[in-house]
Amino acid sequence: MAVYNVNLFIMFKKGIVLATKNQKKAEELVRILHGLNISVETLNNYPDCPDVVEDGHTFEANAVKKALFVSHYTGKNAIADDSGLEVYALGNMPGVYSARFAGVNATDLMNNEKLLNSMKDLKDTERVARFVCVIALVTEEGLIKTFKGVVEGMIAEDIRGSSGFGYDPLFIPEGFNETFGELPSQIKDGISHRGRALRLLQEYIRVKCNITQ
Ligand code: IMP
Repeated sequence: MAVYNVNLFIMFKKGIVLATKNQKKAEELVRILHGLNISVETLNNYPDCPDVVEDGHTFEANAVKKALFVSHYTGKNAIADDSGLEVYALGNMPGVYSARFAGVNATDLMNNEKLLNSMKDLKDTERVARFVCVIALVTEEGLIKTFKGVVEGMIAEDIRGSSGFGYDPLFIPEGFNETFGELPSQIKDGISHRGRALRLLQEYIRVKCNITQ
């Protein structure tokens, strides 16, 4: 077992590639992983890396597919994030289709407007929703692990705030009156689906590598 830990330690010392071309998502991942003391590369260092088709029906399937592809392509450890917004009254849509809810090349604004439109006849109590994030880790040696984080909340009646990305200007996390688009990024990182999934990943790496700090 000790040998396994030493191998993992050496492996993670070589760093991790983030398997995402979403610049805003990459910024959040880098910011939250900062405390781990492991070098984190983005796909900006691999501009020719092809896009992965996200055709899985679950966040897990898409996250593992992206991390496996990038780990094979770069020959390094990779982590991928697949995430989305689930509105209970819409049968958990947009879910895995969050990025392309209003069409393949939809902008965040188009997706937000489509969501507001789809919810215009719902009662206040039906505006409950959650963000889900699955982080997949694939190591150079082929180890695959996934970590899931969730944040519950409500969908606002209009677009509010300009920080973050995606549906942030519409999502009011439980316990707050502001949307993620209005809250400072440190508050979002502390309670978000992505923050929660990444802290599980960090804990896994710390325990496996016997990192105590
Ligand atoms: P994918 O994981 O690349 O398939 O895309 C996830 C999509 O879900 C993003 O394009 C956003 O529309 C949405 N999403 C995921 N996480 C967040 C978040 O933290 N804030 C706002 N929108 C998010």
